[in-house]
Amino acid sequence: MLEGIPVQLGVDYLADREKWDAQAKRIVFTGAIDEFYGFCFGNLAYRKVTFEHEVLDTDNFQGNAVVNYTEREIPYTRIIEHKHFVFGKQPKTVISKEYPTEWKPGEEPYYPVGDAANRELYERYAELSKKDAKVIFGGRLGEYKYYDMDKVIARALEKAAEEFA
Ligand SMILES: Cc1cc2nc3c(=O)[nH]c(=O)nc-3n(C[C@H](O)[C@H](O)[C@H](O)COP(=O)(O)OP(=O)(O)OC[C@H]3O[C@@H](n4cnc5c(N)ncnc54)[C@H](O)[C@@H]3O)c2cc1C
Repeated sequence: MLEGIPVQLGVDYLADREKWDAQAKRIVFTGAIDEFYGFCFGNLAYRKVTFEHEVLDTDNFQGNAVVNYTEREIPYTRIIEHKHFVFGKQPKTVISKEYPTEWKPGEEPYYPVGDAANRELYERYAELSKKDAKVIFGGRLGEYKYYDMDKVIARALEKAAEEFA
């Protein structure tokens, strides 16, 4: 898919945006929209999870890749048993428990917070972005929206179709 297209990884666009802007007519930015604008209206908030990994002496812990837990008494929200993603046959198994954790500015953003205050703040950034005709904001951080993987790919294809229409 990327044949003939130069690719560079490990580059922070925001650290040298003039250099990258000079190389392209259009920019697709999939980082955080508030960071793009130097947090001028304030930080958007995120939810975060912390992972606790365990190797268990059993070939099958939960029979499934993902089990969700919604009970108030259980501190984790999900257990992933990795081998089931790839039908692993190993004698042991690796599980990861996901614990909801408070997010602080500067930490890795996981899930957007869908409350009114953050929606409003995002709308202010989205309004500002309309003045940046060169930049297409996309993805979970650029649009400050929770997307499953299939949904974000569908949205990217839609945006590409709009762009090339
Ligand atoms: C903890 C967690 C669990 C999830 N579990 C599931 C699941 O079970 N099933 C499911 O369908 N989806 C799941 N998702 C959602 C899935 O990860 C997203 O749908 C998908 O990653 C969104 O793709 P994206 O391109 O928008 O964002 P990302 O995958 O985050 O990609 C954004 C890209 O932009 C780059 N970037 C950011 N800032 C800059 C910058 N300044 N300069 C250059 N590059 C930059 C990043 O390096 C990254 O490569 C989960 C998400 C999280 C956080």
